[in-house]
Amino acid sequence: AQRPYIVGNWKMNGNRAMLSEARAIDRAAQRHMKTEVAIAPPYTLIHAVHREAEQIAVGAQDCHPGEEGAHTGDISATMLADAGAKFVILGHSERRTAHAESNELVREKAESVLAAGMRVIMCCGEDEKTRDAGKAEKFVLGQLRASLPEFQNAAEQLTVAYEPIWAIGTGKTATVEDIEAMHKAIRGLLVELFGEEQGGEVRILYGGSVKPENAREILGAAEVGGALVGGASLTADSFMGIALAA
Ligand code: 13P
Repeated sequence: AQRPYIVGNWKMNGNRAMLSEARAIDRAAQRHMKTEVAIAPPYTLIHAVHREAEQIAVGAQDCHPGEEGAHTGDISATMLADAGAKFVILGHSERRTAHAESNELVREKAESVLAAGMRVIMCCGEDEKTRDAGKAEKFVLGQLRASLPEFQNAAEQLTVAYEPIWAIGTGKTATVEDIEAMHKAIRGLLVELFGEEQGGEVRILYGGSVKPENAREILGAAEVGGALVGGASLTADSFMGIALAA
């Protein structure tokens, strides 16, 4: 089995003053090699974090599916790799919602990330209405089926992050039973798509209001291979509190 994977998604937070937090996270990660730690700062900090970090990988929160060209304001996967990024978070609900990203667009982006030699963290998750209607599993598996590209080595190149939308930034977390049920269903799909050997090894992260206080319980759940952390990843103290619980 792979090491637990704790990834910080800084979202639209962070300036150069926050590089000291990145350094502190990196130093702490060097003392806890049992856990794989990574952060995805905003684009403006990727190269700086890459230069400072000795242990942790740096990644991006999105990319354009193309390689270069007339796309004002966009950033390609090859540019991110050039800046030092090792992975890209794709299909986050905040992008699917605020930027109307379709599964098909997310899949094209994933293909460009693989072509640039980076890893993909593929997000999925249902809204509250879908869960209340009892359709969460069907929705999430459909989203993944349509968003995932083909992989040469899924175990190495892919991480899935299950983030129920109603748990993001709300302080609400899914119950351990609900997390385990969803992660098992996702595992079933990954094995179907990529085979027992590859699909069985892909890490499935949980995301949504993960904090040092609830990390042990969530990370101890069956089929939870780590966490994708938003708000609590912005300080080294709280982020590494989560990493230590893994
Ligand atoms: P919070 O940890 O702030 O709930 O955010 C979760 C998330 O969206 C990570 O991608």
